[in-house]
Amino acid sequence: MKRFEDLSPSLRCIMTPGPVEVDPRVLRAMSFPVLGQFDPEFTNIMNETMGMLRELFATGNQWAYPVDGTSRSGIEATMVSLIAPGDRVLIPIYGRFGHLLHEIAERCGAEVYTIEKPWGSVFAPEEIIAEMRKVKPQVVAMVHGETSTGRLQPLEGIGEACREMDALLIVDAVATIGGVPVETDAWKLDAVIGGTQKCLSVPSGMSPITYNERAEAKVLSRKQVERGLRTDDSKLGGMSPVRSNYFDLGMLQDYWSPLRLNHHTEMTSMLYALREGLRLVLEEGLEARFARHLLHEQALVAGLEAMEMKLYGNPDCKMPMVTCVTIPEGVDGEAVRSMLLDDFGIEIASSFGPLKGQIWRIGTMGFSCRKNNVLRVLGGLEAALLRQGCKLPAGLALQAALDVYEQV
Ligand SMILES: *Cc1c(COP(=O)(O)O)cnc(C)c1O
Repeated sequence: MKRFEDLSPSLRCIMTPGPVEVDPRVLRAMSFPVLGQFDPEFTNIMNETMGMLRELFATGNQWAYPVDGTSRSGIEATMVSLIAPGDRVLIPIYGRFGHLLHEIAERCGAEVYTIEKPWGSVFAPEEIIAEMRKVKPQVVAMVHGETSTGRLQPLEGIGEACREMDALLIVDAVATIGGVPVETDAWKLDAVIGGTQKCLSVPSGMSPITYNERAEAKVLSRKQVERGLRTDDSKLGGMSPVRSNYFDLGMLQDYWSPLRLNHHTEMTSMLYALREGLRLVLEEGLEARFARHLLHEQALVAGLEAMEMKLYGNPDCKMPMVTCVTIPEGVDGEAVRSMLLDDFGIEIASSFGPLKGQIWRIGTMGFSCRKNNVLRVLGGLEAALLRQGCKLPAGLALQAALDVYEQV
């Protein structure tokens, strides 16, 4: 018989923009017994999770539930359900994930219009609204926090303009949900996608979404009912049916509604994890959690500046939970990352596309966003840079970060 070694993943200090460290309470929740998907105990957990998600998304929307799959599944479900073939879709792009929205919209058969900003900056909402007046889109899809560049796009005013022009606004808040305010109702966002493995600190594998009645109306206009589930097939064949079964929000919402019309088999253990992650968020309080992300960002930035590192991107639109650092001249960025991982057990991220080899991205998200992690990453980075022969004022970074912590 062939034998395999015990699985023994190392304990890491994960300071990337996801996936991040998971609270032990969430890991414990994942080991609880599996329930049947129609067991009232389980459907009760589904309903509770929906209630917690409404608080997280700051919404009174009926629909707030997870799509099973990584965050990309929530994005794809929302887009494929809300974009009908031939729809005009406007996508403002300021980093990698804007390009992802573009690609998905094209696959939905949309007539896609894009505007772009150089990486490291964001749009003024007025620029997007001016473009909307030209394009007259049925849908606007954009990213709230671009983890590829560490920039936060202000959304105020765009939702209002979408209402005036009868367009739906879809927002990718995968990286920002639970870390900075995402005001679904106040900002008039029609559909919002969140992520688990970033500021919620739940493993990757689910994508919480919410959408309002305006979005639901479009979903219902394209409504399909799975053959063989109902005796009455009269509702089959709405206009331009959603070109996906797994990602059809009309079918998913029937499953998450009291109808409990069977679709997929809900991911029991992942739902336990999400519920426990949300419980942690709501116990801490959203405001306190946002303040925590700002505090540790401040300590990290103070430390990096004390060691004379240059931060990448326009500081006015920096995401608190992602700090991009320009790799100093003559330093091998990957050698530094390897040393951090091998000698210190710390992971920081490299970058994509035009920024490859140019910057490191340090995440301070969710459970990973805490004092001992920030101090570890500063200490490790200083040592690794010195080891690589980089000249920097040694010994100041940790003191600068400790000063920030002493002030609170
Ligand atoms: C991480 C991320 C995604 C993709 O999430 P997956 O869970 O890897 O599918 C999408 N958008 C943004 C802004 C992200 O940061």
